[in-house]
Amino acid sequence: MTRVIKILGILVAVLLVGVLLINTPAVQDKLLDRAVTERLMNNPLDLFNDDALRVVICGSAAPMPVEGRAAACVMVIAGGKFYVVDTGNRSTNNLGLWAIPSELVGGVFLTHFHSDHVGDLGEFNMMTWAQGRPEPLKVFGPEGVKKVVDGFEQSYGLDSTYRTAHHGADLLDPAIGKMTPEEVPLEGDSAIVLDDGELKVTMFSVNHAPITPAVGYRFDYKGRSVVISGDTTKSDTVIKYSEDADLLVHEALAKHIVKQMEFRAGSMGNSRIERILFDIRDYHTSPVEAAEVANAANVKELVLYHLVPTPPNKIAEKVFMRGVSDVRSAGVTLGYDGLTYSLPIDSEDIIFENLNDR
Ligand SMILES: [Zn+2]
Ligand SMILES: [Zn+2]
Repeated sequence: MTRVIKILGILVAVLLVGVLLINTPAVQDKLLDRAVTERLMNNPLDLFNDDALRVVICGSAAPMPVEGRAAACVMVIAGGKFYVVDTGNRSTNNLGLWAIPSELVGGVFLTHFHSDHVGDLGEFNMMTWAQGRPEPLKVFGPEGVKKVVDGFEQSYGLDSTYRTAHHGADLLDPAIGKMTPEEVPLEGDSAIVLDDGELKVTMFSVNHAPITPAVGYRFDYKGRSVVISGDTTKSDTVIKYSEDADLLVHEALAKHIVKQMEFRAGSMGNSRIERILFDIRDYHTSPVEAAEVANAANVKELVLYHLVPTPPNKIAEKVFMRGVSDVRSAGVTLGYDGLTYSLPIDSEDIIFENLNDR
């Protein structure tokens, strides 16, 4: 008994010393300095240094409110630069948390102009400018990009002048803080958006009717490839332009779950939500259909993103993916923010990691 009391006494004493230390400003400052140093040193340059095509899901959700996920965003790293396909709301926060080096940005590609795809464009432009982007931000996309870019430029105009006035034009040059809209017209069902001899980016039309234009992108880099579908129904052009791709990042809306939500909203008398849930079912792709697209295109790995609704737990994930394994038994992953694929050149390897674990 006395021994137990002694041990308890020691534990309480240790606890009290711990509490005392944590409340001491000098100790707090030391911990703070260590945290700040670690944060500033956290620079995932290895993602850029070796020769590989890399893909990071920087936003796996859609417009519905959700915790821990940004709206549509896919980052592609190739040739020492990174490109962002769509800047869904909260995606810039992810890129900041992962310490993606802003000076290496190559451009933004927009698939269409729904808010869950463009919401963070102003933030992305401002953050990469403040963190040392060397030139204006190129924003590629189909017809409409100029209007969207002009709108963001206007709404962030005062913010830019405040920052230049405060920090000085030598640090925050207003000319570099601008965005350059690169509106690319489709020729038939596609167009080459970028081709520097090593990286080729092809834009192709998809079916997100009544939303038009709506496009997806294929990135080819030294024999490795990734396709990002954007928002679409099950589409022949996605199959055509995904042919033999290493990776297909495809949107997914679980129609069976949305139908159930629609029914429940109706039975509870919420006709507004019932109507919206009904409307969205006709311009997206179900997880099973996305698996069919990947099979038809002979894609090695399929990643689902733009998840509607976003499954909040493992059971919901199983419901979301119901029927997929019957169509495609392997090579399919439910995406999440931070999911990263490395495709080394001169290799068939597809290596994945979670950037949040670094
Ligand atoms: Zn859309
Ligand atoms: Zn969307």
